[in-house]
Amino acid sequence: MDTPVRVRFCPSPTGSPHVGLARTALFNWAFARHHGGTFVFRIEDTDASRDSQESYETLLEVMRWLGFDWDEGPEVGGPFGPYRQSERYDSYADVARRLLEAGRAYHCYCSQEELDQRNELARSEGRAPGYDGHCRTLTEEQRSAYEAEGRRPVVRFRMPEQAITFDDLVRGEITFQAGHVPDYVIVRGNGHPLYTLVNPVDDALMEITHVLRGEDLLSSTPRQIALYDALAEIGVGTGQAPRFGHLPYVMGQGNKKLSKRDPESNLLGYRERGFLPEGLLNYLALLGWAIAEDRDIFSMEEMVEAFTIERVNPNPARFDLKKAEAINATHLRGLPVEELAERMVPFLQAAGILGAEVTEEQRALLLAAAPLVHERMVTLAESVEMLGFLFLHEDAFTRDPADSAKLLETDEGRRIVQAAHDALSALPEWQTTAIDEALRAALIEELGLKPRNAFGAVRVAVTGRRISPPLFESLELLGRDRSLARLAAAGAAVRS
Ligand code: GLU
Ligand code: ZN
Repeated sequence: MDTPVRVRFCPSPTGSPHVGLARTALFNWAFARHHGGTFVFRIEDTDASRDSQESYETLLEVMRWLGFDWDEGPEVGGPFGPYRQSERYDSYADVARRLLEAGRAYHCYCSQEELDQRNELARSEGRAPGYDGHCRTLTEEQRSAYEAEGRRPVVRFRMPEQAITFDDLVRGEITFQAGHVPDYVIVRGNGHPLYTLVNPVDDALMEITHVLRGEDLLSSTPRQIALYDALAEIGVGTGQAPRFGHLPYVMGQGNKKLSKRDPESNLLGYRERGFLPEGLLNYLALLGWAIAEDRDIFSMEEMVEAFTIERVNPNPARFDLKKAEAINATHLRGLPVEELAERMVPFLQAAGILGAEVTEEQRALLLAAAPLVHERMVTLAESVEMLGFLFLHEDAFTRDPADSAKLLETDEGRRIVQAAHDALSALPEWQTTAIDEALRAALIEELGLKPRNAFGAVRVAVTGRRISPPLFESLELLGRDRSLARLAAAGAAVRS
């Protein structure tokens, strides 16, 4: 590539950030990094009725959480700023004026009712609806007459009268026949510029070389290519249109397009559940791209190294939450245990299990416990259920009522906790193997119980749940006093 790559990620700050957005950011970012180019982050906030400051802040937070770095954009600035479109209205007004002067755009005075009526007529006559060019060639008199009526014109872009062909980086050559794309509005009657104008104008001004975005935007590409040509004519930007590549749709449940409203679309949900950013990104990379056949797991460095747009698959990708979880679990298993422990801390804090200040002792306990759950975890938030029992004080410790009813509040349950308590109280040394042997001797050999039932009851008594990290190790970590106290309390509770 001769010109240095400049790509942009340009979301609108509406609603909560979703999976599709992150996939677009990822592909642009990886493309920029692979080519040693520039990743521009731009905020398309020109729709005051839908944009919000809260969404904007969430967007930045999520981008940081995912680990993206941007070379130009909010908070980092850059030579083509500002990077929030709401701060760039002057440029848009200037460009619109010059397009009008050059005859590449014109004032359209048609009211909505008139447009609707003519569309209705077109349909009834079997013609395609869409703007019919009514105001393309108004005379001065006609214009003055409309002005005298107090009409406020919109600005419409004049589409060229020939077919538009471009070579999509993902889909190959695409042609839009002449006459299929009507003249479109770029500035409203009140002077407010629309996405149709500001998006390509900024791409031109920011010297964007490649536009990688979702397939849903494919229909705006011929308009933008035509506008680019006009921008080149009036001297806005480098005169060179970007190359376009449209990323495949992502399909959700029931073979429908994954919608922003589907719960599995919500990026914040993944963060709350404790997905690792690198795990989630690894999964999102697979929505339309593959590093190699039969290979699912890779790091972001590996993706950057390997990423080419030629390998993007034009066919719809399928969103599969189970696969996302499996990939995340693999990344979790790959973490060094110290780091796993460190990353669990905020989740334990959010659940109130650890306080804002984590003591040395708590850190040591967490580090010792981490290996017990390392292979079993899918997301970091599971640490709360899996390890909470180790940190909770006796007055805050609770047991799952269903597990308790099933395994503790029975004659057998009562016998088991009593016997376990007796066997463990007599133990000279509090250590996994000794605990294991003592419980086996007392419960399996002497009482003749099935290991599943026997250890299940002890598990519920000391960890609160039927599913926990390995039992004997858990008892060792919990310590003698607290283990015995919980067994005793379990016996007392069920006796009452
Ligand atoms: N702001 C537009 C959107 O979020 C960006 C479209 C584009 O990438 O060109 O849909
Ligand atoms: Zn008109």
